[in-house]
Amino acid sequence: MRYDYLIVGAGLFGAVFASEAGKKGKKCLVVERRDHIAGNVYCEEIHGIRVHRYGAHIFHTSDKRIWDYVCQLAEFNHYINSPIARFRGELYNLPFNMNTFSKMWGITSPKEAQDIIASQIADLGITEPGNLEEQALSLVGRDVYEKLIKGYTEKQWGRECRELPAFIIKRLPLRFTYDNNYFNDRYQGIPIGGYTKLVEKLLEGTEVRLRTDYLKHRQELDGMADKIIYTGMIDQFYDYELGVLSYRSVRFETEELEMENYQGNAVVNYTEREVPYTRIIEHKHFEFGKQPTTIISREYSSEWKKGGEPYYPVNDERNNALYERYRAKAAGEARVIFGGRLGEYKYYDMDKVIAAALKLCDTELN
Ligand code: FAD
Ligand code: UDP
Repeated sequence: MRYDYLIVGAGLFGAVFASEAGKKGKKCLVVERRDHIAGNVYCEEIHGIRVHRYGAHIFHTSDKRIWDYVCQLAEFNHYINSPIARFRGELYNLPFNMNTFSKMWGITSPKEAQDIIASQIADLGITEPGNLEEQALSLVGRDVYEKLIKGYTEKQWGRECRELPAFIIKRLPLRFTYDNNYFNDRYQGIPIGGYTKLVEKLLEGTEVRLRTDYLKHRQELDGMADKIIYTGMIDQFYDYELGVLSYRSVRFETEELEMENYQGNAVVNYTEREVPYTRIIEHKHFEFGKQPTTIISREYSSEWKKGGEPYYPVNDERNNALYERYRAKAAGEARVIFGGRLGEYKYYDMDKVIAAALKLCDTELN
């Protein structure tokens, strides 16, 4: 059997490519080493509650083209992400906004909040933030940094904030309005029916082989297709010959509780260092569930080791430089195209992964 494309990985990147290639009459084979499709956006249903097995996923984008694209695949609900940060029993709204500042300092106006932050920043004398700590301090001052950022970030990344790149924290909005929407994006929601169904729709009509690790059957699979779209780890593809890229991994401790509502919100971040997990997800709240029981997941962050599940690329200087060397090698491949969070070693959100896959389709399939 010959295929135009062998697609390694049934996550969003691979599934979008498969769908578009199928529309152009190309024959694709998708291989996936897990026992299910959808990659990290996979949801499984337990007692009527859809559980995000690989971490909470909220779709958000400002790109109309991407929003229209996903809306063809599923209807989205009106979920707006408004996480709560919990520091030693004190609760604060996220992202950093007037509700956070009002609780932190007992103030009511934007001017008062701005003045407090400005006075805390003035003492620091940071002109050009060179790392996450300096970036955070220069945006929100010392109190917010100490209570809501430092402990959480150090648990999440396993590194001191001074050793982390500033861009990680730039993802978070900072505003002087009473607005708890975690994202600034124009469009947001959770697909009704779940992400797995959405990916199923993308893969309709494409042959998918589960429990198939490309790297273990490389010779045989390489001979079956003209080109390969590879969405696994780029360093693993090359058997780590230039070195091992760092990732953060996450362990989920999931349990069902005999109560209707555990924490009153989908996401509660535990921002102090002493609590070993970073956050607790209560899955039913993503879909406004009314089931009699509830399912929660505690997230423990750890350094990725070979054989584990990679989650977050660690885009610091060392790793970015190493990735560039792999990328240069990959550019010389005539038949293999690397894509997605692992293939491009990028801290990509879902909308960006879909956009990257569609961009590849534009050049590759036209
Ligand atoms: P993946 O989903 O990782 O898919 C790659 C697939 O390739 C996997 O299924 C893997 O098993 C398979 N594979 C790898 N190697 C092989 C091999 N050798 N052989 C066969 N198969 C292989 N984005 C948002 O927009 N909103 C969010 O709220 C959000 N939350 C997140 C929370 C967490 C904890 C994490 C880690 C990410 C989150 N993201 C979020 C990002 C989102 O998960 C990614 O953008 C998206 O899933 C990436 O899709 P992908 O196809 O590139 O990778
Ligand atoms: N962050 C923080 N405190 C919080 C939430 C986030 O300091 O309560 C920081 C942390 O460094 C994290 C980054 O902001 O890595 C980005 O957070 P986000 O929630 O966007 O991360 P993700 O959803 O990718 O896990």
